[in-house]
Amino acid sequence: MGKRIDGNAISASVKAEVANEVEALRNKGISVTLAVILVGEDPASQIYVRNKKRACEALGIISEEHLLPADTTQEQLLSLVEELNLRPEINGILCQLPLPKHLDEKAVINAISPQKDVDAFHPQNVGGIMIGDGVFLPCTPAGVMKMLEYEGISVAGKHCVVIGRSNIVGKPMAMLLLHQNGTVTICHSKTQNLKEICRTADILVAAVGKAKFVTADMVGPGAVVIDVGMNRPAGGKLCGDVDFEAVEPIASAITPVPGGVGPMTIAMLMRNTLTAAKLQNGLSV
Ligand code: NAP
Repeated sequence: MGKRIDGNAISASVKAEVANEVEALRNKGISVTLAVILVGEDPASQIYVRNKKRACEALGIISEEHLLPADTTQEQLLSLVEELNLRPEINGILCQLPLPKHLDEKAVINAISPQKDVDAFHPQNVGGIMIGDGVFLPCTPAGVMKMLEYEGISVAGKHCVVIGRSNIVGKPMAMLLLHQNGTVTICHSKTQNLKEICRTADILVAAVGKAKFVTADMVGPGAVVIDVGMNRPAGGKLCGDVDFEAVEPIASAITPVPGGVGPMTIAMLMRNTLTAAKLQNGLSV
């Protein structure tokens, strides 16, 4: 039976470190502030924003919410981003995605100052991730790397298979694994022989967005299985991309959903916000 990797416990330890550092900064007269923008009333986005606000409050980070109506124009949104870019007391800016269809997400991401881009979505930060010297690491993949490190699971020389190639999870996940000397295969919807490739993985990361997509016959004995998926089937409860009950007996370690990668994402966002505050105050990170 695979070991359940406890994302709640690992994220609590990351958050405790961040809280200590936030307090140390406060004692020097430096506050840490995250501005969160939410446009519209998407229920899932509202939950994410509320959870981020709670995490900030628990760690002593000031959270400034900007809740904008669904009919906000591109100009209004960009002017808010510009105002937040210019305010020195704002350390991090996060615009909750997805945005309503009439808004241009790419333009908004590009407008956020790279120094305040705590999601690490700005092309300058994406480039930093690519060449291995990113100031901010993307929260979900960084959370996965932290879980592996915490569990003492080394990546070097391992065959790491990532299912999914999105800009926010799959691609940066593959890069972070590569920087740790993993031998990385990225799979996607056009991949042939997906099952066979996945079976050869020492570390299998699922970021597909399809409930129970990874079945037992896709996992080799002793593989480490990381489930990034967060799916809420109609009327059902939150579940991941992995058929947990079937895969747990085969894996050497596995992340559950909920209580796996999800809490890590918020913890890494808090860490990035702290990093932003330190850099903006001329401190080393
Ligand atoms: P996404 O943008 O929809 O990307 C999904 C990826 O899965 C795509 O690259 C797609 O391939 C691939 N895919 C779809 N069907 C496939 C198939 N049959 N075989 C192989 N690959 C297939 O999703 P995302 O934003 O990366 O998110 C993925 C999941 O992670 C979602 O459940 C999301 O809710 C969750 N998530 C969780 C967290 C967290 O904090 N835990 C954070 C972010 C996302 P193509 O590129 O070929 O279309």
